[in-house]
Amino acid sequence: LSTRSWWGWGDEERALRGAELTGLSTMVSERFGRQLRPVAPVPLSELRLPVPRVQPPQTLIDIASDSLRDRASHAYGSSYRDVIRAARGDIGHPPDQVLRPRGEPEVIAVLDWAAATGVAVVPYGGGSSVVGGVELREQRAWISLDTGRLDQLAEVDRTSRAARVQAGMLGPALEDALRPMDLTLRFFPQSFEFSTVGGWIATRAAGHFATGPTHIDDLVESVRMITPAGPLESRRLPASGAGPAPDRLLLGSEGSFGVVTEAWLRLQDRPRWRGSCDVRFASFSAGAQAVRVLLQSGLLPANCRLLDPGEAQLAGGDGTAALLVVGFESAHLPVDSALAAAIEICQGAGGTPGQQRTSGPGTTGERPAGAGAWRSSFLRAPYLRDALALMSVIVETFETACTWADLPALHVAVTERIGRELAAICGGGTVTCRLTHAYPDGCAPYFSVIAPSRPGSELAQWDALKAAATAVILDCGGTVTHHHAVGRDHRSGYDLQRPALFAQALGAIKGTLDPAGVMNPGVLLG
Ligand SMILES: Cc1cc2nc3c(=O)[nH]c(=O)nc-3n(C[C@H](O)[C@H](O)[C@H](O)COP(=O)(O)OP(=O)(O)OC[C@H]3O[C@@H](n4cnc5c(N)ncnc54)[C@H](O)[C@@H]3O)c2cc1C
Repeated sequence: LSTRSWWGWGDEERALRGAELTGLSTMVSERFGRQLRPVAPVPLSELRLPVPRVQPPQTLIDIASDSLRDRASHAYGSSYRDVIRAARGDIGHPPDQVLRPRGEPEVIAVLDWAAATGVAVVPYGGGSSVVGGVELREQRAWISLDTGRLDQLAEVDRTSRAARVQAGMLGPALEDALRPMDLTLRFFPQSFEFSTVGGWIATRAAGHFATGPTHIDDLVESVRMITPAGPLESRRLPASGAGPAPDRLLLGSEGSFGVVTEAWLRLQDRPRWRGSCDVRFASFSAGAQAVRVLLQSGLLPANCRLLDPGEAQLAGGDGTAALLVVGFESAHLPVDSALAAAIEICQGAGGTPGQQRTSGPGTTGERPAGAGAWRSSFLRAPYLRDALALMSVIVETFETACTWADLPALHVAVTERIGRELAAICGGGTVTCRLTHAYPDGCAPYFSVIAPSRPGSELAQWDALKAAATAVILDCGGTVTHHHAVGRDHRSGYDLQRPALFAQALGAIKGTLDPAGVMNPGVLLG
């Protein structure tokens, strides 16, 4: 049995401790030339939260909680800022109540009560938001509506290969339910273990596959949402030319129109053939050139992750070369020829391929060697991030997407500017870059920052770095977010990048679906 951490990522039992923690502390202390030891989070029992300002009506008492653990753990999402604030006990404005509806009638009852009383409602899936999506910053009474009890795979349409899934289902539970049918959603964000179907839809999340159907948008057939004005459900259709698409309106709505209660999702057969290869490039820009040609050739590698030399070093490289991990998978066909074509393109762009890894029916093992280790370290990374945060190390990421034409200037401008800011603000630290997703017309650069901070000033230091990053990204033609969503942290950038008339139209839609303005005030609008 595991206990969800109230202040940090995942399960308390899986947090770094003992030799692993000491090893990390020694490593960063050496790297930054000063003693960096973890400071334990404030014990839950020592937290002092403000008294709840509202009580639910008698009819909702059974699904409401104002326990210390529930209120504290629903106060923030899972960004670096959130971890630091929670671990320090800096929880000034927690939800007054946490409500866990067991079905749509209770969701409707909660929204009716909220609309009648003006209490704000913030939908909460897994709480893995990294953009301030699940906290309320304006001072008013609010509840966190936790969808955790809407957790069933409700129906499978084997013929159309789709499933009706309740919004609160977490990634592993969904895959476990589909596995016996040899089906998969094949949607794996890094937060997979602790994020939900409803959260993915509400934030337009992206999985770790680099190309093809990797955004939840691609996998949604229809969405059902309970809004304060009533239920809104799009029709199940493989495609439709009938006007603007209703499900596209709900995707990315971040809880500001209503609560997603369920969705029909497109499934896939489980992949059986896999093949991949690491290719070294003299520079990040040479690797990016190869990724562009690959995508424009019509190949759709499942994996096409380009790491700059700094990131490649963290993955075991020597720090002198960029590394492209290119891989294919298929449920129906061997992938050898696609892999060979990709390697040829990479060689044409100056890449040096390493050994190829392939697997499939009739070969040994289900996956190429190394894939399991990669998966565990991918899922382990957030625990490492929390341990570093407790050692006063700023460790955070920011991401964007831009056209191939804009990439060279954006990459240089961001790394130079953030490098300068790191020196000025933190007295050191590094910024590295990888491409997480690629398209024929552009890509998604993902930057990671690690830097020593001044204890007590971490948040101000990170906020200054983040503001600089957002400014330079928008200046260079990038989007304020490729897949982390808008939330509250990206509002100013989102306001700048969206057309004014679109904002007005969105406001009118919000006014129709949420006339009392109770749904997640502060994200997207208002
Ligand atoms: C370590 C880590 C790794 C991550 N990796 C990825 C990644 O690979 N790809 C990616 O896209 N994102 C990633 N994220 C960000 C985050 O996991 C996604 O935004 C995810 O989709 C949020 O899902 P959730 O269920 O946790 O939603 P929450 O964090 O609970 O909520 C997110 C937003 O959606 C709203 N919401 C949640 N459920 C509903 C609902 N049922 N109806 C209406 N609104 C709702 C909330 O109000 C909030 O605005 C990562 C975050 C962390 C901390």
